[in-house]
Amino acid sequence: MSEVREVIIIGSGPAGLTAAIYTARANLKPLLIEGEPSSTSDQPGGQLMLTTEVENYPGFIDGIMGPELMQNMRAQAARFGTEILTEKVTDVDFTEQPFKVRVGDREYLARTVIVSTGAQALMLGLEAEQRLLGHGLSTCATCDGFFFRGQEIAVVGGGDSAVEEATFLTKFADKVTIIHRRDELRASKIMQDRAFANPKIDFLWNSQVTDILGDEKVTGLTVKSTVDSSESTLDVTGVFVAIGHRPNTDLFAGKLAMEQDTGYLITKADSAYTDVDGVFACGDVQDHVYRQAITAAGSGCMAAIDAERWLEANSDH
Ligand code: NAP
Repeated sequence: MSEVREVIIIGSGPAGLTAAIYTARANLKPLLIEGEPSSTSDQPGGQLMLTTEVENYPGFIDGIMGPELMQNMRAQAARFGTEILTEKVTDVDFTEQPFKVRVGDREYLARTVIVSTGAQALMLGLEAEQRLLGHGLSTCATCDGFFFRGQEIAVVGGGDSAVEEATFLTKFADKVTIIHRRDELRASKIMQDRAFANPKIDFLWNSQVTDILGDEKVTGLTVKSTVDSSESTLDVTGVFVAIGHRPNTDLFAGKLAMEQDTGYLITKADSAYTDVDGVFACGDVQDHVYRQAITAAGSGCMAAIDAERWLEANSDH
C-alpha cells in the first residue's frame, strides 16, 4: 500500500506555495507537485515566472523580479519540509477517500488535496510574445501600468478587460490605443461610454496585431486591417494583451464543480472549499476577478487553514 499523505498541493504559483508554507508549518508534510518547466500552462512558479519586476507585492520596498519572488517562496516552502515534485499531474480521482493523484504511472494518495493550478493569459500566438513579455509587453495593467508613465501604448482586445485596462492605463500613459479586430466592442455599455469619453483613448478598429516590433524592448506593432488586409505600423513603447484568461482546469473536468462558460473552479463563499469534501482550491484557478499575486497567496493561506481544520475535524483520533 502507498503511503496516505495528509495533503497534496497541485500547482506552485503564489497560491500553492503559500499553502505549502502553511501546511508544512502545521506539520502536515505536504507534497507539492509543481509542474514541468517545459510547459506554459504547468510552468512551475506560475505566471510570475513570465514577468520582470514586481513592485506591488508587499514587503519589497524596491520591488523584486517575479522569478526571484517565486524562487524565494519555493525555498521558504522547502525550508519547512515541503516535498517538491517537478512533474505534471496527469489524472486525479476524487470519488473516494483517500484521493488519488496520478503522475504518469505513479499514484499518490492523500486525505486532502489543494488545487492551485492557476490560469494563463491568452496570447496572440506571435513569436515576438515570448521575447518581449516583461519587456514592454504585458498581460496585467494593474501590475505593470506604472512602468509606462508618459508613454504611448496599445491595448489589444475589445472586451471588459481591454476597456478596463485601457482606462486604468490612462492614469500613466499619455495615449492608449485600443486595437480591436471588429468595429464594435464586446465590453459592457457603461465601460464603453467611459472609454469613448476619455480623451487619452484612441481606437483602431477592424485591426489585428500581426507582429510586435523590438529586439529587447517593444518599439511598435504591425497591424493588419481585417477589412482590406492592408498593413501599417503603430509606434508604441508598450502593449497590453487583454483578450481573456483561461484557468488550468482541464484535469478537473467532471470532477470538480466549475463555471460552465469559463471553466473557473467554484469555491464556497469565504472559503477554499470546492464541491468535493476534502478538496480545496485557491489562487487564479478559482479567481477571475482580482488575479493578483497577493490575493493568490492570501487564498493559498485560506486553503491551507481550511485543509488543516478539515483534517482535524475528520481525524479518527
Ligand atoms: P472576453 O469578454 O472574452 O473578451 C475578449 C476580447 O478579446 C474580445 O473582444 C475578443 O474579440 C478579443 N479577442 C479574443 N481573441 C482574440 C485574438 N486572438 N486576437 C484579437 N482579439 C481577440 O474577455 P475579457 O475581456 O477578459 O472578459 C472576461 C470576462 O470577465 C467577461 O465576462 C467580462 O465581462 C468579465 N470582466 C468584467 C470586468 C468588470 O466588470 N469590471 C472587467 C474585466 C472582465 P471579439 O469581440 O471579436 O470576440
